[in-house]
Amino acid sequence: MDSLKKLNEEIITCRKCPRLVAWREEVARVKRKAYQDQEYWGKPVPGFGDPQARVLVVGLAPGAHGSNRTGRNFTGDASGGFLYPALYRAGFANQPTAVSRDDGLTLKDLYLAASARCVPPDNKPTPEELNNCQPYLERDLEILKPKVIVCLGRVAFERILKIYGIRNSEFKFAHGALYKLNTDLPNTGPWLLCSYHPSQQNTLTGKLTVKMFDEVWTKAKELVQDE
Ligand code: SF4
Repeated sequence: MDSLKKLNEEIITCRKCPRLVAWREEVARVKRKAYQDQEYWGKPVPGFGDPQARVLVVGLAPGAHGSNRTGRNFTGDASGGFLYPALYRAGFANQPTAVSRDDGLTLKDLYLAASARCVPPDNKPTPEELNNCQPYLERDLEILKPKVIVCLGRVAFERILKIYGIRNSEFKFAHGALYKLNTDLPNTGPWLLCSYHPSQQNTLTGKLTVKMFDEVWTKAKELVQDE
């Protein structure tokens, strides 16, 4: 727990990516009209969840007016509005809503991290920015040693493959795809479970439905229970 706390303190003060530092602060200064009276977080967003989690969820990056505003993963935007009810239904969250850092939300057996911890323009971190941020994700993995890694979207999937040194073309991103990652000993690594990202682009178009998303969390539950 202490090491996660220490890691998150380090993440919050990071200024490794000049473009993202400038953007996160600019978004926090200008603000969206609806949030003019609020103080934006405007810093890297640390990991959030259960320090004993067996499920690690890897997203893309903070939302400009979601977690870059509230300071907590998937909190205060439409992606979180789709994610947290699903986590609640699956028993990973104590409530279906996430509006601010002090709204009483807690996660059980699940921890949320991201491929990049700062909001990128157009939701697109550059390869260099993702590389800069990768050591934080590696440390989350080292500390938590998760049984299941759920990748929300292709960027997170590719980042995990990179961390595990997998170039195998048999590992393809698809919603619901499931792979066993090998570490030094065969069949000892975590499961890698893929999901479409719960962005509005996917949820409003029907590419990702509530049923499809629920199936991911049911599967994640099954996998940790089988271990
Ligand atoms: S994206 Fe990651 S590496 Fe880059 S400034 Fe933010 S926290 Fe640091």
